[in-house]
Amino acid sequence: MASLAAKKMRMSPKPDTALALYIHIPFCRTKCPYCDFSSYSGLEGLIPRYVEALEAEAAFWARSRGRLPVATIYFGGGTPSLLSGEQVNRILEACRNSFRVAPGAEITLEANPDSAHDALLKHLPSMGVNRRSLGVQSFEPDLLKTLGRLHTAEQARDALWAARRAGFHNINLDLMYGLPGQSLERWRNDLEQALELAPEHISLYPLTLEADTPLGREAASGRLSLPESDLVADMYIAAETVLGQAGYEHYEISNWARPGHRCHHNLFYWQNRPYLGLGASAHSCFQGYRFSNENSPQEYIERLESGLPRALDGGSYPGSVAQVERIDRDTEIAETLILGLRLVEGIELEGFARRFGAEVSSLYPGKVEELIDSGLLEPRGSRLRLTQRGRLLGNEVFMRFLPDSR
Ligand code: SF4
Repeated sequence: MASLAAKKMRMSPKPDTALALYIHIPFCRTKCPYCDFSSYSGLEGLIPRYVEALEAEAAFWARSRGRLPVATIYFGGGTPSLLSGEQVNRILEACRNSFRVAPGAEITLEANPDSAHDALLKHLPSMGVNRRSLGVQSFEPDLLKTLGRLHTAEQARDALWAARRAGFHNINLDLMYGLPGQSLERWRNDLEQALELAPEHISLYPLTLEADTPLGREAASGRLSLPESDLVADMYIAAETVLGQAGYEHYEISNWARPGHRCHHNLFYWQNRPYLGLGASAHSCFQGYRFSNENSPQEYIERLESGLPRALDGGSYPGSVAQVERIDRDTEIAETLILGLRLVEGIELEGFARRFGAEVSSLYPGKVEELIDSGLLEPRGSRLRLTQRGRLLGNEVFMRFLPDSR
């Protein structure tokens, strides 16, 4: 989205609109060979200074914009479970001092099963952390090995049970499909094993390999063979069936939840509502601007330690911010549509028209009808949504709504 053409039109700031607050913890024990996230191994020694930098960044926002309301907090990474209880507590205290965090706000902390230690876990509920997200990826030993994961299937089960014992009633499991050597049967087996653990939420991601990762290079050289795209599509369809039969609501392309357990934080992104990211490489989108922090944890820390703010595009930002982009109306329209269509219920057409003063069909003349005729979109009451085939071919649909294609 960052490459979309920018027009000079500023959205009206809505200072009282609650934000989703994302906190990026970029440290990992090792770097998984498929991972192109902003995460680093061998830098754990920076964690104490990093926590102080997060505190400084949160304090900047309170000084410059007042205590903004926050509806959800999400610790993502990287591996947030590498933090100690005291460090998580300090970060949350900084958030509560610098923002108006809603009472009972959904607060999620991601964890890898190998670092989901009891010492941290038992402190989390009393700090208000009420959602746990575990990166399980697979229960098959050889697939875990291919992915370079440090944990075993047994550790994944233990991590879930430990979270239950600590009092978590809202747990997500991440699984991956389309893995080298994974058959449909093995994928079904992974799904069944996940269901035996009865998590409230399940996220499923296809393996997508970037060229600059070790597994990406192996695939490009032919040393690693990935399942055919038809098999990957069959895995997705199998998941829809298996999880649907088990009582999970499919509410977003990659996400399923027991009733009442959708991820409120991620709904902010899909509904194109404002969010603020703290930490190295964290992205933010609010008050008509999108901006992101320095990628390097060292650079992020040093810029905040300097105490100097940055003046960018006429606004004042923490020193850690590397770039700022104004969001023009065409971009906001396209993103609202594309992100909203990721939700299985799709977009609410009247709400969309109220937000932008025009109906989707008049903003994209002929396109919606064309996509309905080709079986990728379907009207459903007052909503417009992807069909099952559309969910499999989501990118083809989304490209049609980019501003340049209007
Ligand atoms: S644990 Fe997650 S963030 Fe860290 S390297 Fe592996 S996939 Fe990337």
